[in-house]
Amino acid sequence: MTNERNAVELTKELLQFDTINPTGDETGCARHLGDLLADAGFRVDYHPYGERRTCVVASIGGKADKRPLGLTGHIDTVPLGASPWRKDPFAGETDAGRMYGRGSSDMKSGVAAFVVAALAFRDRLAGSPGLELVITGGEETGCEGAFHLARKQGALGRAGALLVAEPTSNYPLVGHKGAFWLEARTHGVTAHGSMPERGDNAVYKAARAVAALEHFDFGIAPHPLLGAPTLNVGTFHGGLNINSVPDEARIGIDIRTVPGQDHNALHERLRERLGPDVELQTRLDVGGVHTDTRDDWVREVFDVMTPILGEAPQARSVSYFTDAAALRPAYGMPPTVILGPGEPQMAHQTDEYCVAERIREAVGAYEEIIRRWCEV
Ligand SMILES: [Zn+2]
Repeated sequence: MTNERNAVELTKELLQFDTINPTGDETGCARHLGDLLADAGFRVDYHPYGERRTCVVASIGGKADKRPLGLTGHIDTVPLGASPWRKDPFAGETDAGRMYGRGSSDMKSGVAAFVVAALAFRDRLAGSPGLELVITGGEETGCEGAFHLARKQGALGRAGALLVAEPTSNYPLVGHKGAFWLEARTHGVTAHGSMPERGDNAVYKAARAVAALEHFDFGIAPHPLLGAPTLNVGTFHGGLNINSVPDEARIGIDIRTVPGQDHNALHERLRERLGPDVELQTRLDVGGVHTDTRDDWVREVFDVMTPILGEAPQARSVSYFTDAAALRPAYGMPPTVILGPGEPQMAHQTDEYCVAERIREAVGAYEEIIRRWCEV
């Protein structure tokens, strides 16, 4: 099919936009996709949420008795990193079936693949349940674009199922953990280091807090697919100079929660455990996602992927979070699958690449998933 080649070409076009978050510009890339979809008859709306930051929502078709299929992906990328690249990160150079570039796997190839698959049905979706394409920015810094859409009245339409085209090497995944990042602060009174009895040492308080966190009991049973929540103290800062009593200390806490875990209740439990000396501030709050593999649509997706993978998919999850954390609740918790052509181990790496053949496979898979949902 001619569309298949186009997805590889469209990936290359998208790679030429520097959408590094936060220094790059998402607008040109968003317009490029929005124009393509608008020209094909999609209803296209832009949702800027900051300077150089924007999301695109495009829809087509629609039917009263069945909601549209939602397809989503982000166009922002992480920075290039400190190591030099051997390939131009913004050229989309191809070498031995691999296309190089920042965002090639995570996840411009995924966006290109579902846009091309959607375009292939442009003339057949009127009167069908239709599609809603949600192309976001700001994902890499905590799903900012997706949360903006979820909060903004009328920005999102409806979706009866949600496909997230994040890199999975085309293996359909049914869940991911949530992330709850907190900064804990302790306060004290400074004094000369030779007279500590005159001060109140904030580092001692922080040290007691860290010790309490090491064996923190979440008080919940492990999730059947995603296991137990985890907690890691990632940073510890306190004091300014060796000969003063420190009057402030800060601890960075990275908690990975399981789907269904209530972050407010967890915050309260942490507050109780740490006591009144410790002040807690939320830095990132992204929920987990899980859909039962007995769900009809998940079974359908597994069915579509079986011949492509050469085996029936098993229930698997992934460690990174996705925009589904923001979009899924906004759509009323539809079944959600994470499935994209990028290579997960290439995400955020130097000389990031994706495999052209997987992009073609993904287009075929998305077309079949769209065909079955929309019955066209
Ligand atoms: Zn991503």
